[in-house]
Amino acid sequence: MSDPTGQRSNRPLRPAWLEVDLSQMAKNFQLIRADASSSLAIGSVVKDAGYGHGAVEVARVALAHGVYCLLVSNLDEAAELRDAGLKAPILLMGERMESELPTCLELGLTLAVGHVQIAEAARRLAVSLGQQLKVHVKIDTGMGRYGAHWDVALELVNTVAVLPGLRLDGMFSHFSMSDELDKSFAREQIRRFLCVCDTVQQAGLTVGCRHLCNSGGFLDLPEAHLDMVRIGLLPLGVYPSQVCRRIDGIEPVGTLKTRLAVVRDVRRGDNVGYGLRYQAPVDMRVGVLPIGYGDGYPRVRNEGFVLLNSRRAPIIGANAMDSTMIDVTGISGATAWDEVVLMGRQGGDKITAHDLADWKGTVSYEVLTALRSRVPRVYHQ
Ligand SMILES: *Cc1c(COP(=O)(O)O)cnc(C)c1O
Repeated sequence: MSDPTGQRSNRPLRPAWLEVDLSQMAKNFQLIRADASSSLAIGSVVKDAGYGHGAVEVARVALAHGVYCLLVSNLDEAAELRDAGLKAPILLMGERMESELPTCLELGLTLAVGHVQIAEAARRLAVSLGQQLKVHVKIDTGMGRYGAHWDVALELVNTVAVLPGLRLDGMFSHFSMSDELDKSFAREQIRRFLCVCDTVQQAGLTVGCRHLCNSGGFLDLPEAHLDMVRIGLLPLGVYPSQVCRRIDGIEPVGTLKTRLAVVRDVRRGDNVGYGLRYQAPVDMRVGVLPIGYGDGYPRVRNEGFVLLNSRRAPIIGANAMDSTMIDVTGISGATAWDEVVLMGRQGGDKITAHDLADWKGTVSYEVLTALRSRVPRVYHQ
């Protein structure tokens, strides 16, 4: 076990932490690599601190297991990867302010570009510095977010491809619905995207790397793999939804753990937690966990459970910023500082990111990215 990130001293590890299994992560990347055709480039999306698992740590495993490039959403994220000495291509997704362009050049980033004005600004800057900036043109095929509308994308592609200073390195788009059973809109997006690529080719331009798939698309829409896929969630062992195709052997790499801080007797009729949300129906034993919504654990009320001594202990009451109470009445031997699993496996049982998402009424993506930096990350090789 290596030192957790964020641990600035030899102080004892806080009894609430995210364990990240780097060898399972490596296995996941290997399984994904083996599942994909050998000519398919794999891009590892490590935005938002690698979905809470550590951007640099995920990126290192990714690059050691056949990943071609890294993708992030903002400059700080890209700089963190460069500061760690990672030299792989980095595609910066989203839109840039003009003031960010010099740093993009400095860090050697590949720029996503969605409209002509920013392409022009990037071109002027690159030319003035005698440099060339690699660009992936973003096409909006139905996400309604970033990119040039698929009907009118040729002007933007022309700006990027023809004038000096920029190099058209790729074109991409993004699915708005790839991980649900109904793939009809995804198929329409594929059609629109391929249509734009054809138009560009017919205009005599070289499209470069075409990419459209996120994890859901990678799993369920092989016809959309094209030249590269951009996957973030799947290598962490979490499927984008309950209905996507499975790859045998892919398992979650993150386990959220804490310890029982206190075990106490509560009398019938006593209340537990804020807002009188729980009143003991009988004499019972209650455990207090030193983790709460301030750590990014979902804010729940009388919902969900944790694993303790390989048993399920229900969450009671409303959890607080720093604490969560559980019913340990049926769990004999529960003692202060016993290890508790909030997400992950213990014994034969498990709690998934999807379970937490259901309790909170959100998606697995938010459960993972919600975990705050105050929860130390502990890496196992
Ligand atoms: C976040 C993101 C991805 C990765 O999606 P996953 O479902 O996590 O694989 C891919 N493409 C874009 C544009 C994104 O913003």
